Amino acid sequence: MKTALTIAGADPSGGAGIQSDLKTFESFGVRGLSVITALTAQNFKIVKAAFPVPPAFLTKQVMTILEEFRIDAVKIGMTGNFDNIKAIGKIIKKVRLKNIVFDTVMRSTGGYPLLDKKGMKAIKDVMPLITVVTPNLAEASILSGIEISEIKDMKRAAEAIYSFGPRYVLMKGGHLKGSPIDLLYDGKEFHSFTGKRIRGKAERFHGTGCMLSAAIAAGLANGMEIKEAVKKGKEYVEGVVRGRK
Ligand code: PLP
Repeated sequence: MKTALTIAGADPSGGAGIQSDLKTFESFGVRGLSVITALTAQNFKIVKAAFPVPPAFLTKQVMTILEEFRIDAVKIGMTGNFDNIKAIGKIIKKVRLKNIVFDTVMRSTGGYPLLDKKGMKAIKDVMPLITVVTPNLAEASILSGIEISEIKDMKRAAEAIYSFGPRYVLMKGGHLKGSPIDLLYDGKEFHSFTGKRIRGKAERFHGTGCMLSAAIAAGLANGMEIKEAVKKGKEYVEGVVRGRK
């Protein structure tokens, strides 16, 4: 059985973070391993508190897992703060990890900060170690310094983020008006994934970014190429959201 490791925050409601990632891995037939970067107090509607673990403890969790398991893919989600991003960067440099998906979580939908300002800047430094980075528009805007209000801005921001060094950039365009379009950029071409807009309250979409990045990691662990992993990931997320009323 292939394995995927999620390095992310814990969500007691199970809708996002580690708990959701493990469900996603299982749905794709991949053995899930999990390392917690931060505890949170939240439900589907609101995040009330976040409590990052010390970076040395984060490192200890990963290194202990690596003593026993071979890792076929990694998903990085909420990191919590600058120190944890630095620790994750060091680990990736030290041990050979492949198929690394980074969901650059910065804030909850409700606006609660899940990463400090220094951490936002440090994301750039780990980009050369990443296979695919999956920012939403707000995160892409912070990473690239480009305001995004239409597809052409999304493309410019993807190019700017690509220049930091990841192998692929997946821009999640769900927050633009019109049909939701995600763009995958490989440094040469853009591939677009067009979805159908699903309506509902914010909580219906809680953790969808977490699910997509975990599903892509699971797909890569299973040997899918990137476009297929994204396509299957989007189908998975859509199925979960449709199942939530
Ligand atoms: N909690 C954790 C641990 C997360 O990783 C995330 C997002 O990635 C959230 C909460 C916020 O999720 P959402 O904004 O989808 O509600």
